[in-house]
This record gives sequence, structure tokens and C-alpha cells, in this order.
Amino acid sequence: MSSEQLFLGLDVGRTIRCALVRGDGQILCQQRVVAEVSDPQIFIDQLIETSNKMRSKGEVAAVGVGWAGLVDYETHRLEAMPNLVDASSFNLRSEMQSALGLPVIFDNDANAAAYAEWLCGAARGYKDVFYVTMGTGIGAGIIMGGKLQRGCRGFAGEFGHFKIDLDGLECACGSAGCLETIASGPNIVRRVREQLFSDPAFSISKLAADMESTLQCERVVEAAKEEDELALSVLRETGRVLGMALASVINLLNIEIVVLGGGVMAASELLLNSIREEARKRTMSPSFDCCRIVAASLELEAGMIGAAMLARDALQNGCA
Ligand SMILES: [Zn+2]
Repeated sequence: MSSEQLFLGLDVGRTIRCALVRGDGQILCQQRVVAEVSDPQIFIDQLIETSNKMRSKGEVAAVGVGWAGLVDYETHRLEAMPNLVDASSFNLRSEMQSALGLPVIFDNDANAAAYAEWLCGAARGYKDVFYVTMGTGIGAGIIMGGKLQRGCRGFAGEFGHFKIDLDGLECACGSAGCLETIASGPNIVRRVREQLFSDPAFSISKLAADMESTLQCERVVEAAKEEDELALSVLRETGRVLGMALASVINLLNIEIVVLGGGVMAASELLLNSIREEARKRTMSPSFDCCRIVAASLELEAGMIGAAMLARDALQNGCA
């Protein structure tokens, strides 16, 4: 495969990120737009328009889309997108292919990001990798034996829906007690709010002033970096919950490296320390001792690079 060939990589969630990517994973140019989620058709048109604008910048061979929901790897049907629009009644792949006149592949967004971190990021050179992305939702990609593992239909890696609380909150997936109901960005904010209202000791928190406006997870991370006790305590607890869930993964899969990415990881060392500590306590020592837990290195570009590289590989293998 020539590194001269170009691919489009899209990372589709509440923000649509689109990049023109070389065959070796280097991004040439990129853009982002806020997804229009009020109507599936408008959303689809927006995806096509964004792709068309970017493809005009080079000779594109194929398009890869990392999708924030379940993708049926056999039928290419988009089964669920709990945090965004319901596009399940559309054949989005064929709509995009005919509109763009290019091969288009879809994969789960966390699979795409995992693939990028493995090819050219923090997991490069490892064979058994568990990649977690933490943002509005929590997703994961599994690489075992140097191969992306999707399960029998493509639905593997739904780490955000690990059940961690028997009597926990309802989740967007239709179940309850999922990891995501505690550790996703919006749920970190929810827990900050609850603590502010229930514990008067936290009224001095820098975050108290933000309660009237729309508090975002980024602000919680920022406050933690400024040593705000409430933000620190919520993030420490978040790390403990993530560490506990990761301990199960490490015990189950005996992986070499856990790579943590996504917007919530802006809290990097703060979270990593409590994640590592809790995972160490709850993992069988031989499994923990041979597993590194690190921050992702490609940040928000991972999804686009991975989607583009999955399109490259599909084209190469005649599957696109
Ligand atoms: Zn769930």
C-alpha cells in the first residue's frame, strides 16, 4: 500500500471530526463541526457534506467512519447509538457510498481509536491491548494477538456497560448500574452537583459558582488541577470505579497494556493514579504486574486516524 494514497477518517459523535489521512496514518488536514442531532436526515446530510468538503482537498481512495454506537460488522447496520441520533432505520453506509462515489466502511468509534493507538500511538508494538475512551459515553476496543477483536457480530468492547452496581442508576443502554452511569463526563458532573447540594462543606468549592450555568466536565478537571477539594474527590472516586472495572478486564484477558483516552482523560495523572491504585488492589498480582496502564497519545485525533486506517485495510483486503 502506497503511503501516497489518501483516506478520509470520520469520528462521529456529538462532534463530527473529519480528517484527510495518509496511508501511514499522518493527518494532512482536519476539521470539526457540531453534529446536528435533531433529525437523522439532517445529520446524514451533514456527514456527507463534511466528507465532500474534505475530499476536495486530495485524491481519496476510501472513507472510514468511527461511529459512537454499535455497528453490525456483518450487515453494516448501525444497531444503536444511545447517546446521539437514532439512525437505525437508515442504510447510512450505502447512502454515503452513493453520495460520495467511494467505498465507505463503518466501525465502532472506540474500535477505530484503539486501532490508531495500536498502529501509531501509545500501544504501538504491543499485541494484547485494551483501549478505553471516556467522554460523553465510555467505550473500548480490544486488540488480542495483534488483531482487533469485535466479537461474533461486532458488538464487543462495550466497557461502559460493565455492570458495577446492583442497584445503580438507569443507563442509556436500557439497563442499569453500568460503569457509564458513574464515570462518563456527564455523570461526573452529575455527581459534583449532588455533592454540592448534599454536603455544605463543599459550598466553598470553586465549582459552586458554576452551578447556575451549564457545568461541563472540563471545568471539573480544571478545578481539580487548581486543587479544588470537591473536584479532586469526585475524580479520585471516578478513578477508583474505573480501576475496579479495569481489574476485571485485566483478570479476564491478561492484557499487556491498558490505554486510556477521551475527553475525561484531560485529568490524566489525577485519574491515572487512582485508577492504577485501585486496579492493583483488585487484580491478581501476576496479571497486574505484566500490565501497564497509560494515557493515550493521539488524543482526539485517534478516532479519525483509526477510521481512516480501517478503511485503508478494508480496501487492501478487498472488503470495502
Ligand atoms: Zn449501560
